[in-house]
Amino acid sequence: MTVNVDVQTFSHFINGKWEQTSSGETFDVFNPATGELVAKVAKGTVADVDRAVKAARSAFDKSDWKNMKPKERAKVLFAISYKIAEHAQELAYLEAISSGGTVRRIGNSDILQMVDLFQTLANFTLEYPFSETLPVPPFPGPAHNFIWREPIGVCAAITPWNLPMVIATWKIGPALAMGNTIVIKPASYTPLSTLKLAEIISEVVPPGVINVVTGAGAEVGEALVNHPEVDKVAFTGSTEVGRRIMGLAAGTIKNTTLGLGGKSPNILLEDVDLSIALPGSLFGVFLHSGQLCESGTRLFVPDALYDQVVAGLTALASNLKLGNPLDPTTDVGPVISKKQKEAILGFIDSGKQEGATLVCGGKEVIVPGCEQGHFIEPTIFTNVTNDMKIAQEEIFGPVLCVIRYSELDEAIQMANDTIYGLAAGVWTRDVNKAYEVARKLQAGVVWINDWHMFRSDAPFGGYKQSGIGREMGKHSLDAYTQLKHVHTSMSPELERRSWYGILFGQN
Ligand code: NDP
Repeated sequence: MTVNVDVQTFSHFINGKWEQTSSGETFDVFNPATGELVAKVAKGTVADVDRAVKAARSAFDKSDWKNMKPKERAKVLFAISYKIAEHAQELAYLEAISSGGTVRRIGNSDILQMVDLFQTLANFTLEYPFSETLPVPPFPGPAHNFIWREPIGVCAAITPWNLPMVIATWKIGPALAMGNTIVIKPASYTPLSTLKLAEIISEVVPPGVINVVTGAGAEVGEALVNHPEVDKVAFTGSTEVGRRIMGLAAGTIKNTTLGLGGKSPNILLEDVDLSIALPGSLFGVFLHSGQLCESGTRLFVPDALYDQVVAGLTALASNLKLGNPLDPTTDVGPVISKKQKEAILGFIDSGKQEGATLVCGGKEVIVPGCEQGHFIEPTIFTNVTNDMKIAQEEIFGPVLCVIRYSELDEAIQMANDTIYGLAAGVWTRDVNKAYEVARKLQAGVVWINDWHMFRSDAPFGGYKQSGIGREMGKHSLDAYTQLKHVHTSMSPELERRSWYGILFGQN
């Protein structure tokens, strides 16, 4: 392995400054494209989590942060968006060298999405119903009633390695917009961009409002979920770890939102325009080497188009260029780690053993200049049946399963036959038909003639075991507030409070 001379060292970010870990230990972060060591990062402990939570608690309880007027808060959110734009290059670089995402995607999509999210939330904050007045009730007596929406308090965010920055902002954005404070635990493969993000955001918020503790999920993550002074947990990651977090959060009855795995179905109808649907379906599955939770991994193709679709997909997929994510001509980067590569190759073996036909890819690749990287060819299986392991389990790699259908109802039934429900897609020239299919698909987002189309003002989240709650959009703000009903009686005299007779009956 080559050792990069520019190895950077990162500590925790707590209370507005860089803080050493109490263990004195670090863990290594490697570039998945080259195998190079790129950073040494603080290995957090339960004591470090406690320090960060106390800083966040104090910022919430003792500063004016939670009482800021919406107009002032919107200005802060806009300021964060400008900071992200100003630091775009550095953020994109840190993201690319740790997650393996291509700079082409990060620069042209992730950064823009993050900037847009903070600006959209700033505008939503201006209109948000922090206080609503209810009509005067006719019974039992006149009263003035408010519903107040208040911040929850200290939020813990636990994030995955595939889209570290974007997913962190899905939590930081609404948490800060509603006046909460936050402690983030990024994935151990990819903590760098989140640390940098916290540093630049801290320039425009009070100390302790945003904190990052790095380290292992089993130690740092669990300590956050268990901490009695953490009021909310927002987790994105695998369904397996989500299940564990939900169990742990029950110990202190924490408000919990979960963004989990997916096995998203993508249905081509017979009248589809293949000139768009074929590249679109491959965009849906091979972007970021298939390591996106809402990737369209199961493609349902009608009998009449099957051979034409398979030939078209294979031709397009074979032309994708694998390479270093820092090279702007690279289409597909590496997968995150050797372990992930081996898991994906294991799924590919299982597909072959279960009788699926491998028509494209299926092997690891040595990319010149990136010999120690973890690359897998974009892979397509045909003759897949929906009960095969490759069609039911989340592979999280560049593997497409093509499944044949005869009747549309059969395709919809197979599409929904999964524990997941994150995304789904349908491709057709008939928009009414598309809506009819979209109604029947059990998924938190349905893309019609498109894929991976996120909007800052639209909610994202899963049906079934793909999660609980929604991120982005106005709906995400509700997840970072709690409701308080305030009642003021307008009946000043005891004689007019007939309802007290429920207790003080006629003696
Ligand atoms: P993991 O579930 O393995 O890890 C996610 C985060 O949880 C990491 O920060 C990890 O830390 C931490 N963690 C691990 N174990 C625990 C624990 N016991 N207690 C608390 N925290 C823990 O997911 P991946 O990082 O592998 O990400 C891929 C998964 O994320 C896929 O399943 C994908 O579908 C899903 N995902 C879902 C999205 C959605 O919006 N629905 C979006 C993006 C991804 P560490 O890194 O130290 O292990």
